Amino acid sequence: MSNVYLEKMCEIVKARNPHEEEFLQAVTEVIESLEPVFARYPEFEEANILERIIEPERQIIFRVSWVDDQGKVRVNRGYRVQYNSAIGPYKGGIRFHPSVNLSIVKFLGFSQVFKNALTGLPLGGGKGGADFDPKGKSEMEIMRFCQSFMTELYRHLGPDTDVPAGDIGVGAREVGYLFGQYKRICNEFTGVLTGKGLSYGGSLVRKEATGFGLVYFVNEALKAINKSFDQATVVISGSGNVATYACQKAQELGAKVVAMSDSNGYIYDPNGINLDTIKEIKEVKRQRIKEYAQIHKDARYYEGSRGIWQVPCHIALPCATQNEIYEEDAKALIKNGCYCVGEGANMPTTPSAIKLLLEHGVLVAPGKAANAGGVATSGLEMTQNSQRLPWSAEEVDSRLRAIMCNIYKDCAAAIDEYGLGSLVEAANIVGFVKVARAMLEQGVI
Ligand code: NDP
Repeated sequence: MSNVYLEKMCEIVKARNPHEEEFLQAVTEVIESLEPVFARYPEFEEANILERIIEPERQIIFRVSWVDDQGKVRVNRGYRVQYNSAIGPYKGGIRFHPSVNLSIVKFLGFSQVFKNALTGLPLGGGKGGADFDPKGKSEMEIMRFCQSFMTELYRHLGPDTDVPAGDIGVGAREVGYLFGQYKRICNEFTGVLTGKGLSYGGSLVRKEATGFGLVYFVNEALKAINKSFDQATVVISGSGNVATYACQKAQELGAKVVAMSDSNGYIYDPNGINLDTIKEIKEVKRQRIKEYAQIHKDARYYEGSRGIWQVPCHIALPCATQNEIYEEDAKALIKNGCYCVGEGANMPTTPSAIKLLLEHGVLVAPGKAANAGGVATSGLEMTQNSQRLPWSAEEVDSRLRAIMCNIYKDCAAAIDEYGLGSLVEAANIVGFVKVARAMLEQGVI
Protein backbone atom coordinates (compact mmCIF):
# COMPACT_ATOMS: atom_id res chain seq x y z
CA MET A 1 0.00 0.00 0.00
CA SER A 2 1.50 3.37 -0.97
CA ASN A 3 -0.93 5.64 0.90
CA VAL A 4 0.62 6.78 4.20
CA TYR A 5 -2.73 7.62 5.84
CA LEU A 6 -4.14 4.16 5.04
CA GLU A 7 -1.01 2.47 6.35
CA LYS A 8 -1.26 4.46 9.55
CA MET A 9 -4.91 3.39 9.91
CA CYS A 10 -3.88 -0.27 9.58
CA GLU A 11 -1.37 0.21 12.39
CA ILE A 12 -3.85 2.04 14.62
CA VAL A 13 -6.54 -0.61 14.21
CA LYS A 14 -4.05 -3.40 15.01
CA ALA A 15 -2.77 -1.60 18.12
CA ARG A 16 -6.26 -0.75 19.34
CA ASN A 17 -7.81 -4.20 18.76
CA PRO A 18 -5.07 -6.74 19.46
CA HIS A 19 -6.03 -10.42 19.18
CA GLU A 20 -9.26 -9.64 17.32
CA GLU A 21 -8.33 -11.77 14.34
CA GLU A 22 -11.58 -11.79 12.37
CA PHE A 23 -12.16 -8.10 12.97
CA LEU A 24 -8.66 -7.19 11.77
CA GLN A 25 -9.10 -9.40 8.71
CA ALA A 26 -12.34 -7.64 7.74
CA VAL A 27 -10.98 -4.14 8.35
CA THR A 28 -7.68 -4.77 6.53
CA GLU A 29 -9.52 -6.05 3.46
CA VAL A 30 -11.58 -2.86 3.29
CA ILE A 31 -8.62 -0.53 3.93
CA GLU A 32 -6.60 -2.23 1.19
CA SER A 33 -9.40 -1.47 -1.30
CA LEU A 34 -9.55 2.24 -0.52
CA GLU A 35 -6.43 3.74 -2.16
CA PRO A 36 -8.30 5.05 -5.22
CA VAL A 37 -10.97 6.59 -2.97
CA PHE A 38 -8.51 8.51 -0.80
CA ALA A 39 -6.62 9.64 -3.91
CA ARG A 40 -9.84 11.10 -5.28
CA TYR A 41 -11.43 12.53 -2.10
CA PRO A 42 -8.82 14.28 0.10
CA GLU A 43 -11.68 15.58 2.26
CA PHE A 44 -12.18 12.09 3.68
CA GLU A 45 -8.65 12.11 5.05
CA GLU A 46 -8.95 15.70 6.30
CA ALA A 47 -12.02 14.73 8.34
CA ASN A 48 -10.33 11.47 9.44
CA ILE A 49 -13.40 9.55 8.28
CA LEU A 50 -11.66 6.18 8.17
CA GLU A 51 -10.54 6.12 11.79
CA ARG A 52 -14.06 7.15 12.80
CA ILE A 53 -15.73 4.52 10.60
CA ILE A 54 -13.54 1.74 12.02
CA GLU A 55 -14.48 2.56 15.61
CA PRO A 56 -17.98 1.28 16.51
CA GLU A 57 -20.34 3.95 17.84
CA ARG A 58 -21.30 1.72 20.79
CA GLN A 59 -20.45 -1.79 22.05
CA ILE A 60 -22.68 -3.50 24.57
CA ILE A 61 -21.60 -6.67 26.38
CA PHE A 62 -23.94 -8.25 28.89
CA ARG A 63 -24.58 -11.27 31.08
CA VAL A 64 -27.33 -13.66 30.03
CA SER A 65 -28.39 -15.91 32.91
CA TRP A 66 -30.99 -18.58 32.32
CA VAL A 67 -32.24 -21.83 33.85
CA ASP A 68 -31.85 -25.14 32.02
CA ASP A 69 -34.31 -28.07 32.13
CA GLN A 70 -32.48 -29.58 35.10
CA GLY A 71 -33.01 -26.39 37.09
CA LYS A 72 -29.34 -25.46 36.83
CA VAL A 73 -28.43 -21.79 36.38
CA ARG A 74 -26.38 -21.20 33.22
CA VAL A 75 -24.52 -18.07 32.13
CA ASN A 76 -23.68 -16.86 28.63
CA ARG A 77 -22.27 -13.63 27.27
CA GLY A 78 -24.41 -11.41 25.03
CA TYR A 79 -23.23 -8.72 22.59
CA ARG A 80 -24.65 -5.92 20.51
CA VAL A 81 -22.31 -3.72 18.53
CA GLN A 82 -24.08 -0.62 17.23
CA TYR A 83 -21.57 0.14 14.55
CA ASN A 84 -22.63 3.07 12.44
CA SER A 85 -25.87 5.08 12.18
CA ALA A 86 -24.81 7.62 9.53
CA ILE A 87 -27.44 6.53 7.00
CA GLY A 88 -30.12 4.91 9.17
CA PRO A 89 -30.93 3.00 12.36
CA TYR A 90 -28.50 0.20 13.30
CA LYS A 91 -29.49 -2.95 11.45
CA GLY A 92 -27.96 -6.41 11.47
CA GLY A 93 -28.54 -9.91 12.73
CA ILE A 94 -28.03 -11.78 15.98
CA ARG A 95 -25.87 -14.93 16.02
CA PHE A 96 -26.11 -17.71 18.60
CA HIS A 97 -23.05 -19.96 18.29
CA PRO A 98 -20.42 -21.10 20.83
CA SER A 99 -17.69 -19.38 18.76
CA VAL A 100 -19.25 -15.90 19.16
CA ASN A 101 -16.91 -13.32 20.70
CA LEU A 102 -16.34 -9.58 20.37
CA SER A 103 -14.01 -9.97 17.38
CA ILE A 104 -16.63 -11.91 15.41
CA VAL A 105 -19.46 -9.55 16.29
CA LYS A 106 -17.30 -6.54 15.34
CA PHE A 107 -16.22 -8.03 12.01
CA LEU A 108 -19.84 -8.78 11.18
CA GLY A 109 -20.97 -5.31 12.29
CA PHE A 110 -18.24 -3.56 10.33
CA SER A 111 -19.09 -5.48 7.14
CA GLN A 112 -22.79 -4.83 7.72
CA VAL A 113 -22.28 -1.05 7.58
CA PHE A 114 -21.09 -1.19 3.95
CA LYS A 115 -23.46 -3.98 2.92
CA ASN A 116 -26.45 -2.00 4.15
CA ALA A 117 -25.21 1.08 2.28
CA LEU A 118 -25.00 -1.00 -0.91
CA THR A 119 -28.71 -1.88 -0.70
CA GLY A 120 -29.64 1.76 -1.31
CA LEU A 121 -31.98 1.65 1.72
CA PRO A 122 -31.66 3.91 4.79
CA LEU A 123 -30.06 1.32 7.07
CA GLY A 124 -27.12 1.78 9.44
CA GLY A 125 -25.02 -1.18 10.53
CA GLY A 126 -24.86 -3.32 13.66
CA LYS A 127 -24.58 -6.93 14.78
CA GLY A 128 -25.13 -8.96 17.93
CA GLY A 129 -25.10 -12.41 19.38
CA ALA A 130 -24.19 -14.71 22.21
CA ASP A 131 -21.81 -17.62 22.82
CA PHE A 132 -24.89 -19.78 23.40
CA ASP A 133 -25.10 -23.12 21.57
CA PRO A 134 -28.69 -23.85 20.52
CA LYS A 135 -27.72 -27.40 19.46
CA GLY A 136 -29.18 -30.03 21.76
CA LYS A 137 -31.23 -27.50 23.75
CA SER A 138 -34.92 -28.12 24.33
CA GLU A 139 -37.60 -25.80 22.98
CA MET A 140 -38.16 -24.39 26.49
CA GLU A 141 -34.43 -23.79 27.04
CA ILE A 142 -34.25 -21.88 23.77
CA MET A 143 -37.25 -19.80 24.81
CA ARG A 144 -35.85 -19.01 28.27
CA PHE A 145 -32.50 -18.06 26.78
CA CYS A 146 -34.09 -15.74 24.21
CA GLN A 147 -36.23 -14.11 26.90
CA SER A 148 -33.25 -13.50 29.14
CA PHE A 149 -31.18 -12.15 26.24
CA MET A 150 -33.93 -9.67 25.31
CA THR A 151 -34.49 -8.65 28.94
CA GLU A 152 -31.17 -6.80 28.71
CA LEU A 153 -31.08 -5.98 25.01
CA TYR A 154 -34.51 -4.30 24.77
CA ARG A 155 -33.28 -1.05 26.33
CA HIS A 156 -30.87 -0.54 23.44
CA LEU A 157 -33.39 -1.24 20.63
CA GLY A 158 -36.23 0.58 18.91
CA PRO A 159 -37.80 0.68 15.44
CA ASP A 160 -35.90 3.93 14.70
CA THR A 161 -32.83 3.05 16.80
CA ASP A 162 -31.68 -0.52 16.30
CA VAL A 163 -33.53 -3.33 14.54
CA PRO A 164 -31.92 -6.81 14.84
CA ALA A 165 -32.72 -9.90 12.75
CA GLY A 166 -31.50 -13.52 12.56
CA ASP A 167 -28.13 -15.00 11.65
CA ILE A 168 -26.44 -18.33 12.44
CA GLY A 169 -28.49 -20.13 15.12
CA VAL A 170 -31.23 -17.50 15.10
CA GLY A 171 -34.14 -18.28 12.78
CA ALA A 172 -37.89 -17.64 12.84
CA ARG A 173 -38.34 -19.54 16.13
CA GLU A 174 -35.77 -17.46 18.02
CA VAL A 175 -36.92 -14.18 16.44
CA GLY A 176 -40.44 -15.05 17.66
CA TYR A 177 -39.30 -15.49 21.27
CA LEU A 178 -37.15 -12.34 21.15
CA PHE A 179 -40.02 -10.32 19.68
CA GLY A 180 -42.51 -11.65 22.22
CA GLN A 181 -40.28 -10.63 25.11
CA TYR A 182 -39.61 -7.17 23.66
CA LYS A 183 -43.35 -6.60 23.25
CA ARG A 184 -44.04 -7.78 26.79
CA ILE A 185 -41.42 -5.51 28.37
CA CYS A 186 -42.08 -2.40 26.27
CA ASN A 187 -45.84 -2.86 25.94
CA GLU A 188 -45.68 -1.88 22.29
CA PHE A 189 -46.07 -3.69 19.00
CA THR A 190 -43.46 -2.30 16.63
CA GLY A 191 -41.22 -3.57 13.88
CA VAL A 192 -38.26 -3.82 16.23
CA LEU A 193 -37.02 -7.10 14.78
CA THR A 194 -37.14 -8.43 11.23
CA GLY A 195 -37.46 -12.00 10.07
CA LYS A 196 -40.70 -12.18 12.08
CA GLY A 197 -43.39 -14.80 11.47
CA LEU A 198 -45.97 -13.95 8.82
CA SER A 199 -48.81 -13.83 11.35
CA TYR A 200 -47.24 -10.99 13.36
CA GLY A 201 -45.63 -8.56 10.94
CA GLY A 202 -43.11 -10.63 9.01
CA SER A 203 -42.57 -10.17 5.29
CA LEU A 204 -43.18 -12.73 2.61
CA VAL A 205 -39.89 -13.81 0.97
CA ARG A 206 -37.74 -12.66 3.96
CA LYS A 207 -36.91 -16.28 4.78
CA GLU A 208 -35.79 -16.92 1.20
CA ALA A 209 -34.24 -13.49 0.62
CA THR A 210 -30.54 -14.00 1.34
CA GLY A 211 -30.28 -17.19 -0.72
CA PHE A 212 -32.47 -15.88 -3.55
CA GLY A 213 -30.61 -12.56 -3.54
CA LEU A 214 -27.26 -14.34 -3.72
CA VAL A 215 -28.35 -16.21 -6.83
CA TYR A 216 -29.83 -13.04 -8.41
CA PHE A 217 -26.53 -11.21 -7.84
CA VAL A 218 -24.32 -14.06 -9.08
CA ASN A 219 -26.57 -14.49 -12.10
CA GLU A 220 -26.00 -10.84 -13.08
CA ALA A 221 -22.24 -11.21 -12.61
CA LEU A 222 -22.22 -14.44 -14.66
CA LYS A 223 -23.94 -12.71 -17.58
CA ALA A 224 -20.90 -10.44 -17.90
CA ILE A 225 -18.67 -13.49 -18.49
CA ASN A 226 -21.21 -15.23 -20.74
CA LYS A 227 -22.10 -17.91 -18.22
CA SER A 228 -25.26 -18.79 -16.32
CA PHE A 229 -26.67 -21.17 -13.73
CA ASP A 230 -28.38 -23.17 -16.48
CA GLN A 231 -26.70 -26.63 -16.69
CA ALA A 232 -23.99 -25.52 -14.23
CA THR A 233 -22.82 -27.86 -11.47
CA VAL A 234 -23.04 -26.11 -8.11
CA VAL A 235 -21.66 -26.89 -4.65
CA ILE A 236 -23.17 -25.11 -1.63
CA SER A 237 -21.70 -25.24 1.87
CA GLY A 238 -24.07 -25.12 4.83
CA SER A 239 -27.66 -26.32 4.95
CA GLY A 240 -29.20 -23.50 6.95
CA ASN A 241 -31.27 -20.54 5.90
CA VAL A 242 -28.95 -19.06 3.28
CA ALA A 243 -27.79 -22.37 1.78
CA THR A 244 -31.30 -23.82 1.48
CA TYR A 245 -32.78 -20.93 -0.48
CA ALA A 246 -29.66 -20.43 -2.60
CA CYS A 247 -30.09 -24.07 -3.57
CA GLN A 248 -33.78 -23.55 -4.39
CA LYS A 249 -33.16 -20.55 -6.66
CA ALA A 250 -30.09 -22.09 -8.34
CA GLN A 251 -32.16 -25.19 -9.15
CA GLU A 252 -35.00 -23.02 -10.48
CA LEU A 253 -32.48 -21.42 -12.85
CA GLY A 254 -31.43 -24.83 -14.18
CA ALA A 255 -28.37 -25.61 -12.05
CA LYS A 256 -27.54 -29.04 -10.70
CA VAL A 257 -26.59 -28.69 -7.01
CA VAL A 258 -24.57 -31.78 -6.10
CA ALA A 259 -23.30 -31.13 -2.56
CA MET A 260 -24.34 -29.45 0.70
CA SER A 261 -22.92 -29.59 4.24
CA ASP A 262 -23.26 -28.86 7.93
CA SER A 263 -20.52 -28.38 10.51
CA ASN A 264 -19.95 -32.16 10.77
CA GLY A 265 -19.67 -33.18 7.13
CA TYR A 266 -21.10 -33.00 3.64
CA ILE A 267 -23.31 -35.00 1.31
CA TYR A 268 -22.67 -35.61 -2.37
CA ASP A 269 -25.62 -36.60 -4.53
CA PRO A 270 -24.72 -37.31 -8.18
CA ASN A 271 -28.41 -37.06 -9.11
CA GLY A 272 -28.68 -33.52 -7.74
CA ILE A 273 -29.74 -32.56 -4.22
CA ASN A 274 -33.37 -33.21 -3.33
CA LEU A 275 -34.24 -29.99 -1.56
CA ASP A 276 -37.49 -31.29 -0.05
CA THR A 277 -35.41 -33.84 1.85
CA ILE A 278 -32.98 -31.13 3.04
CA LYS A 279 -35.86 -28.96 4.27
CA GLU A 280 -37.48 -31.90 6.05
CA ILE A 281 -34.20 -32.86 7.76
CA LYS A 282 -32.97 -29.37 8.66
CA GLU A 283 -36.07 -27.17 9.06
CA VAL A 284 -38.65 -29.65 10.36
CA LYS A 285 -36.72 -32.38 12.19
CA ARG A 286 -33.61 -30.30 13.03
CA GLN A 287 -31.39 -33.31 12.33
CA ARG A 288 -27.86 -33.63 10.90
CA ILE A 289 -27.25 -33.62 7.13
CA LYS A 290 -25.88 -37.13 7.28
CA GLU A 291 -29.50 -38.38 7.44
CA TYR A 292 -29.81 -37.42 3.75
CA ALA A 293 -27.65 -40.38 2.69
CA GLN A 294 -30.00 -42.75 4.56
CA ILE A 295 -32.89 -41.56 2.41
CA HIS A 296 -31.19 -41.20 -1.00
CA LYS A 297 -29.23 -44.34 -1.68
CA ASP A 298 -27.04 -42.90 -4.47
CA ALA A 299 -25.89 -40.10 -2.19
CA ARG A 300 -22.82 -40.38 0.03
CA TYR A 301 -21.98 -38.70 3.32
CA TYR A 302 -18.40 -37.65 4.14
CA GLU A 303 -17.19 -36.59 7.59
CA GLY A 304 -15.57 -33.14 7.77
CA SER A 305 -17.16 -30.08 6.19
CA ARG A 306 -14.10 -28.73 4.34
CA GLY A 307 -13.91 -31.71 1.99
CA ILE A 308 -16.86 -30.22 0.11
CA TRP A 309 -14.48 -27.95 -1.87
CA GLN A 310 -12.88 -31.03 -3.43
CA VAL A 311 -16.16 -31.80 -5.21
CA PRO A 312 -15.82 -30.64 -8.85
CA CYS A 313 -18.15 -27.75 -9.68
CA HIS A 314 -18.54 -24.72 -11.93
CA ILE A 315 -19.99 -22.49 -9.24
CA ALA A 316 -19.21 -22.64 -5.50
CA LEU A 317 -21.55 -20.92 -3.05
CA PRO A 318 -20.06 -20.84 0.47
CA CYS A 319 -23.12 -20.28 2.69
CA ALA A 320 -22.05 -21.54 6.14
CA THR A 321 -19.64 -19.29 8.03
CA GLN A 322 -16.48 -17.15 7.99
CA ASN A 323 -13.14 -18.52 6.75
CA GLU A 324 -14.40 -21.75 5.24
CA ILE A 325 -12.43 -21.56 1.96
CA TYR A 326 -8.67 -21.57 2.54
CA GLU A 327 -5.91 -21.41 -0.06
CA GLU A 328 -5.82 -25.22 -0.41
CA ASP A 329 -9.56 -25.28 -1.02
CA ALA A 330 -9.24 -22.51 -3.60
CA LYS A 331 -6.55 -24.53 -5.36
CA ALA A 332 -8.87 -27.54 -5.55
CA LEU A 333 -11.72 -25.40 -6.89
CA ILE A 334 -9.47 -23.90 -9.59
CA LYS A 335 -8.05 -27.29 -10.54
CA ASN A 336 -11.56 -28.71 -10.95
CA GLY A 337 -12.70 -25.94 -13.29
CA CYS A 338 -14.69 -23.69 -10.95
CA TYR A 339 -15.25 -20.30 -12.57
CA CYS A 340 -17.27 -18.51 -9.89
CA VAL A 341 -17.34 -18.26 -6.09
CA GLY A 342 -20.44 -16.47 -4.76
CA GLU A 343 -20.27 -15.65 -1.07
CA GLY A 344 -23.59 -16.26 0.70
CA ALA A 345 -21.85 -16.29 4.08
CA ASN A 346 -19.96 -13.34 5.55
CA MET A 347 -16.20 -13.45 4.82
CA PRO A 348 -16.21 -17.19 3.93
CA THR A 349 -13.07 -16.91 1.80
CA THR A 350 -9.70 -16.12 3.41
CA PRO A 351 -7.70 -13.21 1.91
CA SER A 352 -5.06 -15.52 0.41
CA ALA A 353 -7.77 -17.73 -1.12
CA ILE A 354 -9.46 -14.68 -2.68
CA LYS A 355 -6.13 -13.53 -4.08
CA LEU A 356 -5.51 -16.93 -5.64
CA LEU A 357 -9.00 -17.18 -7.12
CA LEU A 358 -8.73 -13.72 -8.68
CA GLU A 359 -5.26 -14.45 -10.06
CA HIS A 360 -6.73 -17.49 -11.80
CA GLY A 361 -9.57 -15.49 -13.31
CA VAL A 362 -12.30 -16.90 -11.04
CA LEU A 363 -15.22 -14.52 -10.64
CA VAL A 364 -15.61 -13.71 -6.92
CA ALA A 365 -18.96 -12.26 -5.86
CA PRO A 366 -18.15 -10.76 -2.42
CA GLY A 367 -20.51 -11.34 0.51
CA LYS A 368 -21.01 -7.65 1.23
CA ALA A 369 -22.77 -7.33 -2.11
CA ALA A 370 -23.91 -10.87 -2.86
CA ASN A 371 -25.63 -11.64 0.46
CA ALA A 372 -27.20 -8.19 0.91
CA GLY A 373 -30.62 -9.52 -0.15
CA GLY A 374 -31.42 -10.60 3.41
CA VAL A 375 -30.94 -7.22 4.98
CA ALA A 376 -32.53 -5.51 1.96
CA THR A 377 -35.70 -7.55 2.47
CA SER A 378 -35.50 -6.79 6.19
CA GLY A 379 -35.57 -3.15 5.10
CA LEU A 380 -38.69 -3.94 3.07
CA GLU A 381 -40.20 -5.63 6.16
CA MET A 382 -39.56 -2.41 8.13
CA THR A 383 -41.33 -0.40 5.43
CA GLN A 384 -44.34 -2.73 5.49
CA ASN A 385 -44.44 -2.53 9.31
CA SER A 386 -44.39 1.29 9.19
CA GLN A 387 -47.13 1.35 6.57
CA ARG A 388 -49.02 -1.39 8.45
CA LEU A 389 -49.59 -2.99 5.06
CA PRO A 390 -48.21 -6.36 3.94
CA TRP A 391 -47.01 -6.74 0.35
CA SER A 392 -47.50 -9.76 -1.89
CA ALA A 393 -44.68 -12.26 -2.43
CA GLU A 394 -44.41 -11.10 -6.05
CA GLU A 395 -43.96 -7.50 -4.99
CA VAL A 396 -41.26 -8.27 -2.40
CA ASP A 397 -39.44 -10.66 -4.74
CA SER A 398 -39.43 -8.18 -7.62
CA ARG A 399 -38.07 -5.44 -5.33
CA LEU A 400 -35.41 -7.84 -4.02
CA ARG A 401 -34.40 -8.74 -7.55
CA ALA A 402 -34.21 -5.06 -8.54
CA ILE A 403 -32.07 -4.25 -5.49
CA MET A 404 -29.61 -7.08 -6.26
CA CYS A 405 -29.37 -6.01 -9.92
CA ASN A 406 -28.71 -2.42 -8.82
CA ILE A 407 -26.00 -3.50 -6.41
CA TYR A 408 -24.34 -5.38 -9.24
CA LYS A 409 -24.67 -2.36 -11.58
CA ASP A 410 -23.18 -0.01 -8.96
CA CYS A 411 -20.24 -2.37 -8.38
CA ALA A 412 -19.65 -2.85 -12.12
CA ALA A 413 -19.74 0.94 -12.60
CA ALA A 414 -17.16 1.38 -9.82
CA ILE A 415 -14.86 -1.10 -11.56
CA ASP A 416 -14.91 1.17 -14.64
CA GLU A 417 -14.81 4.44 -12.72
CA TYR A 418 -11.84 3.54 -10.49
CA GLY A 419 -10.14 1.03 -12.84
CA LEU A 420 -10.52 -1.84 -10.34
CA GLY A 421 -9.65 -5.50 -10.79
CA SER A 422 -12.58 -7.14 -8.98
CA LEU A 423 -16.06 -6.91 -7.49
CA VAL A 424 -14.44 -7.37 -4.06
CA GLU A 425 -12.77 -3.94 -4.16
CA ALA A 426 -15.79 -2.43 -5.91
CA ALA A 427 -18.25 -3.48 -3.18
CA ASN A 428 -15.98 -2.08 -0.47
CA ILE A 429 -15.61 1.22 -2.31
CA VAL A 430 -19.28 1.77 -3.19
CA GLY A 431 -20.40 1.05 0.38
CA PHE A 432 -17.62 3.10 1.94
CA VAL A 433 -18.12 6.22 -0.18
CA LYS A 434 -21.83 6.36 0.62
CA VAL A 435 -21.33 6.14 4.38
CA ALA A 436 -18.29 8.45 4.34
CA ARG A 437 -20.23 11.18 2.49
CA ALA A 438 -23.07 11.00 5.02
CA MET A 439 -20.61 11.23 7.92
CA LEU A 440 -18.86 14.19 6.36
CA GLU A 441 -22.15 16.07 6.00
CA GLN A 442 -23.16 15.33 9.61
CA GLY A 443 -20.03 16.89 11.16
CA VAL A 444 -17.74 15.47 13.82
CA ILE A 445 -19.97 13.16 15.88
P1 NDP B 1 -27.99 -21.00 9.83
O1 NDP B 1 -27.76 -21.13 11.28
O2 NDP B 1 -29.37 -21.09 9.30
O3 NDP B 1 -27.11 -22.07 9.03
C1 NDP B 1 -25.74 -22.11 9.16
C2 NDP B 1 -25.21 -23.32 8.42
O4 NDP B 1 -23.79 -23.27 8.39
C3 NDP B 1 -25.56 -24.63 9.08
O5 NDP B 1 -25.65 -25.64 8.11
C4 NDP B 1 -24.37 -24.86 10.01
O6 NDP B 1 -24.15 -26.22 10.34
C5 NDP B 1 -23.24 -24.35 9.15
N1 NDP B 1 -22.16 -23.82 10.02
C6 NDP B 1 -22.25 -22.90 11.00
N2 NDP B 1 -21.09 -22.71 11.61
C7 NDP B 1 -20.22 -23.54 11.00
C8 NDP B 1 -18.84 -23.81 11.17
N3 NDP B 1 -18.14 -23.17 12.13
N4 NDP B 1 -18.28 -24.72 10.34
C9 NDP B 1 -19.00 -25.35 9.37
N5 NDP B 1 -20.32 -25.14 9.18
C10 NDP B 1 -20.92 -24.25 9.98
O7 NDP B 1 -27.31 -19.60 9.41
P2 NDP B 1 -27.58 -18.72 8.11
O8 NDP B 1 -27.85 -19.59 6.94
O9 NDP B 1 -28.54 -17.67 8.48
O10 NDP B 1 -26.15 -18.00 7.94
C11 NDP B 1 -25.10 -18.57 7.17
C12 NDP B 1 -24.10 -17.48 6.79
O11 NDP B 1 -24.78 -16.46 6.02
C13 NDP B 1 -23.46 -16.73 7.95
O12 NDP B 1 -22.14 -16.35 7.58
C14 NDP B 1 -24.31 -15.49 8.08
O13 NDP B 1 -23.62 -14.42 8.72
C15 NDP B 1 -24.58 -15.18 6.62
N6 NDP B 1 -25.73 -14.34 6.34
C16 NDP B 1 -26.98 -14.69 6.78
C17 NDP B 1 -28.05 -13.89 6.48
C18 NDP B 1 -29.46 -14.27 6.84
O14 NDP B 1 -30.38 -13.57 6.40
N7 NDP B 1 -29.69 -15.33 7.59
C19 NDP B 1 -27.89 -12.61 5.76
C20 NDP B 1 -26.54 -12.39 5.26
C21 NDP B 1 -25.52 -13.22 5.58
P3 NDP B 1 -24.58 -26.78 11.79
O15 NDP B 1 -26.05 -26.92 11.72
O16 NDP B 1 -23.85 -28.05 11.91
O17 NDP B 1 -24.12 -25.75 12.79
